[in-house]
Amino acid sequence: MRIVLVGPPGAGKGTQAAFLAKNLSIPHISTGDLFRANISQNTELGRRAKAFMDAGDLVPDEITIGMAKDRMEQPDAVNGFLLDGFPRNVSQAEALDGMLEEAGMKLDAVLDLEVEEDEVVKRIAGRRICRNDSAHVFHVVYAAPKTPGVCDTCGGELYQREDDSEATVRNRLEVYHTQTEPIIDYYKAQGLLVTIPALGEVADVTQRAMDALKK
Ligand code: AMP
Repeated sequence: MRIVLVGPPGAGKGTQAAFLAKNLSIPHISTGDLFRANISQNTELGRRAKAFMDAGDLVPDEITIGMAKDRMEQPDAVNGFLLDGFPRNVSQAEALDGMLEEAGMKLDAVLDLEVEEDEVVKRIAGRRICRNDSAHVFHVVYAAPKTPGVCDTCGGELYQREDDSEATVRNRLEVYHTQTEPIIDYYKAQGLLVTIPALGEVADVTQRAMDALKK
């Protein structure tokens, strides 16, 4: 299956993507994770992306699209993938369509995780992520780790992403509304869009998404 996950920052895309990818046996491809890995390895690509990420802006398409394409062409992705955080604007969505068409493939579904803005701000402000694995996500109030600052799953150090600060979150939400939301109509017009209410327990949201994909 080839699936795109969309939704505002803080909707739980990373968390849901990890569960869905596991259930469907396809790789979870997160452009945000790819950028963060490049930054921590201090690559040229990471150095180019960092300032945009720190400001909560989109990294320019000429950097992002090539990186996403390289990842999608890896052998583990030939039979499908779950994209998390890509595409993030209409030109990326068009580039993705072009890539898939060239390869004789198409998307199966676009899952839109729907959550209210107030909830998003609360979720992001308390979000803490494991340094070992970005799929291990906690929240200081809603999903507190047993020991503050320590990952329950692997014992790794929990940290707050630099772009999770309140000012940056506001910009990320603005960027989401102006640049990313138009892809929702783009995919609706292709008959691919499935809206998933993203409130409630993580496992319930995963189940809703799995049920929607079966249809
Ligand atoms: P995420 O982990 O998906 O929240 O992404 C974190 C940041 O990485 C975003 O705020 C952007 O700065 C950058 N980023 C991730 N994916 C993309 C994309 N598809 N296009 C442009 N920038 C991106």
